[in-house]
Amino acid sequence: MGIVAVYPGTFDPITNGHSDLIERAANLFDRVIVAISGASGAAKRPAFSLAERAAMAKEALACHDNIEVAVFESLLVDFVTERKANVILRGLRAVSDFEYEFQLAGMNRQLAPSVETLFLTPAEQYAYLSSTLVREVATLGGDVSRFVHPVVKEALRRRLKRN
Ligand code: ADP
Repeated sequence: MGIVAVYPGTFDPITNGHSDLIERAANLFDRVIVAISGASGAAKRPAFSLAERAAMAKEALACHDNIEVAVFESLLVDFVTERKANVILRGLRAVSDFEYEFQLAGMNRQLAPSVETLFLTPAEQYAYLSSTLVREVATLGGDVSRFVHPVVKEALRRRLKRN
């Protein structure tokens, strides 16, 4: 059946850093499921709706046939088990990501011992990139072309008009 990796996150919106990681993963695993969380835990209130985030991710990742975009609103390990996946994939940018990611991996192992969490690092030029920063740059009129897919750039522009 092969190795199926679930790459969970908020993807608010998907950036080229996320895409870089997903493409690396698609070369390693049989299938990669980009799992966009709709759960409103952890004090995060996304700027884009779950449907908007999923639509952007689908367009940004359109040309890969072993990459799937899905949404979930349950506990991550329940989604992973339901999809018969064996790996949770997360990205590490800097040491500052480590502590939270280490905690998350430990908790998920407690909840689902047979699922392994694996980490990849992005290409250096994406190591500083986050969805939050991209939203801030776009809000203040900066050019985000190098950081996101054109579809995301356009969505950010439309969202600014809406506000
Ligand atoms: P979450 O809210 O779960 O952290 P994100 O969408 O912010 O969701 O990120 C999902 C995963 O992708 C996390 O593991 C995060 O560290 C990683 N990630 C985010 N941006 C980048 C990037 N530029 N390069 C590599 N990994 C990244």
